[in-house]
Amino acid sequence: MTELYTEGAPIRDEKAPDGPIAERWDKRRFSARLVNPANRRKLSIIIVGTGLAGASAAATLGEAGYNIKSFCYQDSPRRAHSIAAQGGINAAKNYRNDGDSIYRLFYDTVKGGDYRARESNVYRLAQVSVEIIDQCVAQGVPFAREYGGLLDNRSFGGVQVSRTFYARGQTGQQLLLGAYQALERQVAAGTVEMYTSHEMLDLIVVDGRARGIIVRDMVTGEIETHFADAVVLATGGYGNVFFLSTNAMGSNVTAIWRAHRKGAFFANPCFTQIHPTCIPVSGTYQSKLTLMSESLRNDGRIWVPKKKGDTRDPRDIPEEERDYYLERMYPAFGNLVPRDIASRAAKRVCDEGRGVGPGGLGVYLDFADAIKRMGRDAVEAKYGNLFDMYERITGENPYEVPMRIYPAVHYTMGGLWVDYDLQSTIPGLFVIGEANFSDHGANRLGASALMQGLADGYFVLPNTINDYLADGPFEKIDENHPEVKEAVEGVRARLEKLLSINGSRTVDSFHRELGKIMWDYCGMERTEEGLRKAITLIRELRDEFWRDVKVTGVNEELNQTLERAHRVADFMELAELMCIDALHRRESCGGHFRAESQTEDGEALRHDDEFAYVAAWEFTGVGEPPVLHKEALEYEYVEMKQRSYK
Ligand SMILES: Cc1cc2nc3c(=O)[nH]c(=O)nc-3n(C[C@H](O)[C@H](O)[C@H](O)COP(=O)(O)OP(=O)(O)OC[C@H]3O[C@@H](n4cnc5c(N)ncnc54)[C@H](O)[C@@H]3O)c2cc1C
Repeated sequence: MTELYTEGAPIRDEKAPDGPIAERWDKRRFSARLVNPANRRKLSIIIVGTGLAGASAAATLGEAGYNIKSFCYQDSPRRAHSIAAQGGINAAKNYRNDGDSIYRLFYDTVKGGDYRARESNVYRLAQVSVEIIDQCVAQGVPFAREYGGLLDNRSFGGVQVSRTFYARGQTGQQLLLGAYQALERQVAAGTVEMYTSHEMLDLIVVDGRARGIIVRDMVTGEIETHFADAVVLATGGYGNVFFLSTNAMGSNVTAIWRAHRKGAFFANPCFTQIHPTCIPVSGTYQSKLTLMSESLRNDGRIWVPKKKGDTRDPRDIPEEERDYYLERMYPAFGNLVPRDIASRAAKRVCDEGRGVGPGGLGVYLDFADAIKRMGRDAVEAKYGNLFDMYERITGENPYEVPMRIYPAVHYTMGGLWVDYDLQSTIPGLFVIGEANFSDHGANRLGASALMQGLADGYFVLPNTINDYLADGPFEKIDENHPEVKEAVEGVRARLEKLLSINGSRTVDSFHRELGKIMWDYCGMERTEEGLRKAITLIRELRDEFWRDVKVTGVNEELNQTLERAHRVADFMELAELMCIDALHRRESCGGHFRAESQTEDGEALRHDDEFAYVAAWEFTGVGEPPVLHKEALEYEYVEMKQRSYK
């Protein structure tokens, strides 16, 4: 395997404080340098991304007095992928008085991530979770409330308490509207300059520091340079490398991949979350998969027929001939086991020939019991919009027949490596939200992405970025600087190359083929042989892409084919790194399931002696062996053991 990568020096998180875990965040805030309000007005920050992470960071840093430039590729910040989030956001408020605490949220998250996340980061996340809810309520986010007026909670996978705050099935939308209002307030106040329909195509690094970005105005095609004292990437996840995923169609890896090529290490790229409750693929024409929120597992029961190939109407299958396999296998957590466990269990029963629906790739999510217990109106009040969405897509009425669901790619735990301050290996480049790797280990628990995005944007970054900016303002640079010129020329040359190939295959056909390779060999189950094959196939496909892709139109206009082409070109490079990462990690953990490493009953088998580290990869060239830097993970508070949800 050595031919695929080399190993470099270990990496350490130099900013991580020591001492009692509950005091570490305070300690870091105290040791981090501050920038006084008058000096903040002399400093500028570029923030790419207006999802929950980026919008909350821009609003908060603008309010603090910094000069912010905020970018997104959509025509409005409100269209960021975060708007799609349905189920909820976690916080250790213990409103239900059911034994929750900051420590329990910390513990659940470290365990849920299969002991591949940093303790210090996760503890801070749990601490800050409480403040997020207060902040959002103050903004007017309409969280669901109980009769008595307290905010309501429900449960998500991998936990035994109710700590998930929600706004019907539209939590992301409501939270984003809150962050967006705060952002627009700063736009009106003049601290934030907003650039919509602008796509970052490269990072500007001068004298080793991140100093700006190169963007394409997506309406005119103009290539622009923007400079600042620091750059923040809040550009979301890269699940669309699989082509079919629950992510918004536009979600892509370009911003963080370009930064990776400029020196930012990429951590745990292979850690992908496959969500158990999505509407099954229905044909080869499909370009998007739809999530059915995990919240449905609070009341819905998952089952398949006991008999193989049973094609009866589910309503005609009597109780004793049904296998509520999650309740049977994991009695303590039942239908609310974490996503990686539920997804693999679904795959297993389908592999046994007991799957339902076309192709046998589906399991039932059944509300008959819930309707009997709570009444249809109560079910509708809780989940109505999700049921409507299901019916619109499948033509089946889930109040009458069980939903059919199957796992699909949903979230990427990997991302750019960041230290405790959320700074990447490029000084001055900070990475927040799904774009970084920081808090979820090998498997994210449901409702924790919104929590992390808002924690990073509202609370963590605004307290850590000052330490870096205290050395600013940095020397002024402009487009005549040689490193800037070179970067701009690189961007132009790449776009021209894509437009000049004029081959015979569409961008989508390449993307679809890449996605299939990734799903088949780097998806729910991975093997040494499959991953090696995938790497060969990806390299061949990438060569073919650069020989034969057809990109129509010109640069100087709205050109969605060109946009997709450069994103797919980056996915082609990322895919290889994901497979190398998956191949080198010869253990199973969380969402990374190596068939060669499983327990007798088919659960993920970790090898803590060899792999209790973050894999941080350094770029060395396309198709060249990347360099692996290991960051050792130390557990002082949570004992590493075989995860059990039984
Ligand atoms: C269907 C669905 C439901 C979900 N439900 C939940 C849930 O209930 N609870 C939960 O905790 N999590 C949920 N998640 C996960 C969660 O929504 C995401 O992890 C989170 O919203 C990511 O937020 P973000 O701010 O990091 O990035 P995003 O919201 O993805 O925003 C990315 C931003 O970056 C910009 N951008 C990206 N690249 C560029 C570029 N090159 N140039 C310029 N701008 C760029 C985009 O324009 C956008 O503004 C769900 C995910 C999906 C797919």
